[in-house]
Amino acid sequence: MKGKVLPLTNYGIFLDRDGTLIEDRGHIGSPEDIQIFRDTIPALRLLQNYFTLFIVTNQPGIARGIITREQVENVNRCLISRFAEYGIQIQNVYYCPHDRTERCKCIKPNPYFLHEAASKYGVDLKGSFVIGDHPRFNSVSVTVTGILHSQRSEYFVL
Ligand SMILES: [Mg+2]
Ligand SMILES: [Zn+2]
Repeated sequence: MKGKVLPLTNYGIFLDRDGTLIEDRGHIGSPEDIQIFRDTIPALRLLQNYFTLFIVTNQPGIARGIITREQVENVNRCLISRFAEYGIQIQNVYYCPHDRTERCKCIKPNPYFLHEAASKYGVDLKGSFVIGDHPRFNSVSVTVTGILHSQRSEYFVL
């Protein structure tokens, strides 16, 4: 509708987990290994004023038998409760438990979980963003802008 301004919260930010919000320690199976980047908290606090926040993470360690679904879900739960302590609300955490060789539909850069969030929460993907530290995973095949997060500098590139 012409002239209609959508509420900003209809837009989402889909955040990668490892190497973007927390240090990428490879197949994190225990909450003790969660190391939140210095700038994650202030960045999310700012972003949540304008966007609904989601985490989308590939966890192929599950398919490879390195970690279990329970471990991944526990780590995700601990992470979002740590964020909640700082007043940050993560709407949902989506993880792909498959290995790339399985050619599943939910592994990034497939937009599967983005569409799921769009239908469940009414997220307008055209005004949404994907933020991650892996260039390939940011180019999902829907109209969502990808932003590369530079792990080395530990700063968001926005
Ligand atoms: Mg990553
Ligand atoms: Zn998958």
